[in-house]
Amino acid sequence: MGRIIGIDLGTTNSCVAVLEAGEPVVIHNQEGGRTTPSMVSWNADGDVIVGAASKRQMVTNPARTVFGAKRLIGRKLTDPDVQRVLPFMPYKVVPARNGDAWVSIDGQPRSPQEISAHILAKMRRVAEDYVGETISEAVITVPAYFDDVQRQATKDAGAIAGLQVRAILNEPTAAALAYGVQHRADQRVAVFDLGGGTFDISILAIENGVFEVLATSGDTTLGGDDFDRALIDLLATEFQQAHAIDLRADAVALQRLKEAAEQAKIELSSSMNTDVNLPFIAIGPAGPMHLTRTLSRGELERACKDLLARLDAPCQTALEGARCTAADIDQVLLVGGMTRMPAVQDRVIQIFKKHPHKAVNPDESVAMGAAVHSGIIGGELQEVVLLDVTPHDLGVKTAGDRMSVIIPANTSIPTRERKVFATTEDNQTFVAIEVHQGPSSQASKNRRLGRFVLGDLKVGPRGATRVEVAFSLDADGILHVDATEVGTGRAASVTIEAASGLSGDEVARLGERLR
Ligand code: AMP
Repeated sequence: MGRIIGIDLGTTNSCVAVLEAGEPVVIHNQEGGRTTPSMVSWNADGDVIVGAASKRQMVTNPARTVFGAKRLIGRKLTDPDVQRVLPFMPYKVVPARNGDAWVSIDGQPRSPQEISAHILAKMRRVAEDYVGETISEAVITVPAYFDDVQRQATKDAGAIAGLQVRAILNEPTAAALAYGVQHRADQRVAVFDLGGGTFDISILAIENGVFEVLATSGDTTLGGDDFDRALIDLLATEFQQAHAIDLRADAVALQRLKEAAEQAKIELSSSMNTDVNLPFIAIGPAGPMHLTRTLSRGELERACKDLLARLDAPCQTALEGARCTAADIDQVLLVGGMTRMPAVQDRVIQIFKKHPHKAVNPDESVAMGAAVHSGIIGGELQEVVLLDVTPHDLGVKTAGDRMSVIIPANTSIPTRERKVFATTEDNQTFVAIEVHQGPSSQASKNRRLGRFVLGDLKVGPRGATRVEVAFSLDADGILHVDATEVGTGRAASVTIEAASGLSGDEVARLGERLR
């Protein structure tokens, strides 16, 4: 059996690690970096550039440079979360046949799965250079709060990159694994993970090598990009008020503003003031215009006040789900680059009433945990056991748009639950069931995963034919459905009309194109 690599496929940066002599090791990329920008661009000749090289040419090639593909993966273009980030994307996002948010490069639509596959393929090459052998298997991490469609789409990205995805692992769980294999004492840990695009919070109990996730919660629409956007808005609105020019309407100016905003945010983590200096940012009636301004940490924090406030609710939900209070938590681990912001750390102290653990590297612990998980799967780390949970309620839509929950949030996975459905009309040969995932009691407010049609039913009066449907959530948090007719035990056929995703053929075709 070949080696299994662990990949943290981040919104902003990605990282790859392998297990060596039972220890996770982060691998340097060809440019010497321990993390690689999650950026993919196409040059004028149509060649693909990934990582640091892509980031370097972003300002001169904004329309063909894709960042933040993780914000789009497994989502519809009409999704409010996608709509919210679109004005800040210098590249074009278009609807796919099924309404998914795809990226258009020189008029050619490309799925976020394909874009992510380029990043995964790069991480794979980085690992292959290091270990000196071909790699075909990986553990890939996703935000704990990713739903079924986003997980499946990430798995497809792995397949396009020529990787058999042995597991989809939740990022906070990965960070806890990396920490826990080095700190073996029994304890209760909260993993607070604020990255470029998403916020996750998980509570775990570590006992005798068993890592049990007790609860997980989060917000897939809250991350560092939002903090950057708050600063972009502050700077652009001021500029607009002074000069009646909206810098956000110009792709190149917006790109420069985005870079400057992120840079200023990062600098304000270690300094109280920083200078934003953008010469020749626009052309006005009187010639070139410049944006020059000193920004203080206080201004940043005020601009991000609402975003910081949004960190509280998911933490409280997770504590309630784990049936514990802040006082029961022994350690708080910080993951994700955004946890370096002092105001974020202050919020953590306020919520958990203790200082976070400092020894984990927020940029690398997720990939290291993925490598640890590869050791569990491969049998190298036999003394470690992982029990994870599903983050969302999973259920079906019933009369009056009600959400009938079949697998509640925070149920240990893998799991299997059953529900019986009956025909509602005479001589009905099929039953259609709409599956939703999410916290609302109103089904339509939750994510619609798809419609399952159970066919080949025995004809009879209404209510006489009943079908038992089994929902199985695998260890990756991905749903499988099967059905049998009650009484006869005959299998009903299940056709899944997926709400999103690529077909098997499309994945194979894209995979060939990538190689
Ligand atoms: P990740 O997805 O974990 O790579 O997190 C990336 C996010 O962390 C981006 O939004 C970065 O701008 C942000 N970030 C990285 N370093 C810092 C820092 N020192 N202070 C504030 N934010 C940071």
